[in-house]
Amino acid sequence: MSNIKENLETLLKEIPENVDLVAVSKTKPTEDIMEAYDYGHRIFGENKVQEMVSKWEELPKDIEWHMIGHVQRNKVKYMAPFVSLIHGVDSLKLLKEIEKQGRKQDRVIPCLLQMHIASEETKFGLDENELFSLLESEQLATFKHVFIRGLMGMATFTDDRQKIEKEFQYLKKLYDRLGNEYYQKGKVEMQVLSMGMSGDYQIAIECGSNMVRIGSSIFGERNYN
Ligand SMILES: *Cc1c(COP(=O)(O)O)cnc(C)c1O
Repeated sequence: MSNIKENLETLLKEIPENVDLVAVSKTKPTEDIMEAYDYGHRIFGENKVQEMVSKWEELPKDIEWHMIGHVQRNKVKYMAPFVSLIHGVDSLKLLKEIEKQGRKQDRVIPCLLQMHIASEETKFGLDENELFSLLESEQLATFKHVFIRGLMGMATFTDDRQKIEKEFQYLKKLYDRLGNEYYQKGKVEMQVLSMGMSGDYQIAIECGSNMVRIGSSIFGERNYN
């Protein structure tokens, strides 16, 4: 017995209208996705390119697929034809590959820049210096098939609410600052601030998130066997 529809219903009541919900379906079967789909949900997030591609092939074509995981450059080509938003862009090299594959597909691929805001070493993402040098690079100015729509970040995995708050507040400040400074129409626009998962989305929304990525609170705990 699954409670996917009930979980979604509860969640959607709680989340303000201006906040988009990415239902994170990684490791979950297509039947689970279809339950959420039948309920009316259309935005799904995956963290592995191969898995996202095979689900895209199998499922209705009006689903918006978001890549939320770390992306290897040699995998970009597989999702370039359909991906709606790549959340985890954290290097110019990767962006360059996305530009190349976007050009081949004759489409502009929306991306978020992932910032490193947590204190854990293992999480991917840019620091502030890297962010600014990416945004100011001459190469970026030549790209025509990528669109930087905002920022993404993951807070430290901790019970310390204040620490999480601090990290999200920092990202929101940066987002606002970029929104004012880097207004390059069509290339860099701050429209999406992707932060918040099952454990911390309420805090993220209080801190100004307008896109949350929620998996286990919808689909249940993941099984990595
Ligand atoms: C898995 C994952 C999520 C969702 O995590 P839950 O705790 O299950 O909500 C969100 N963001 C990223 C980047 C993820 O990899």
